[in-house]
Amino acid sequence: MNIVLMGLPGAGKGTQAEKIVDQYGIPHISTGDMFRAAIKEGTELGMKAKSFMDNGDLVPDEVTIGIVRERLSKEDCDKGFLLDGFPRTVAQAEALENILSDLNKNIDYVINIDVEKDILLERLTGRRICKSCGATYHLVFNPPSQEGVCDRCGGELYQRADDNAETVQNRLDVNIKQTQPLLSFYEEKGYLRNINGQQDIDVVSAEIDKLLGGLS
Ligand SMILES: [Zn+2]
Repeated sequence: MNIVLMGLPGAGKGTQAEKIVDQYGIPHISTGDMFRAAIKEGTELGMKAKSFMDNGDLVPDEVTIGIVRERLSKEDCDKGFLLDGFPRTVAQAEALENILSDLNKNIDYVINIDVEKDILLERLTGRRICKSCGATYHLVFNPPSQEGVCDRCGGELYQRADDNAETVQNRLDVNIKQTQPLLSFYEEKGYLRNINGQQDIDVVSAEIDKLLGGLS
């Protein structure tokens, strides 16, 4: 069960990733975790990645791809894996094809949790945080009983600068532009499965399950 999971910010990818790895006992391989592990183990590539990150630079593709190769070669990936956050570009996707072919593996599905941009905007801009106790709310999904006031401590609720409409819109646009060619690449390969992410979390999860059930 070799899966690549895709979804824009706010699509619910993290939640579904957790459910998939719990249910199927395959490792969840996210780029951040992979880097942290390689750095902790002190591998040559890990040290290279660290030197870029310490300087605040992007880790170059050849280093990232090397780390992915090392990770996917580990024994715990024999039964499968869930890749999350990699690949991000068509060049990385092509590199992944090469890695998997060297390892005698292939991708079963690329699952894309599909949510319209307007809905993502609503989800991502609705967050409110209590100034006093840090409790989080959501205007649509978890509203406080009184507008602008924390249920827990009566503190004032505010919106983080990262969550304002303009910032979120920009972040989404960048992501959409980057993701589009990748989705086309996987569609042409026949791996892509779009799952409607605008449904309840449990319904989304059930649809993914139905798809993956055919693999096990
Ligand atoms: Zn509070």
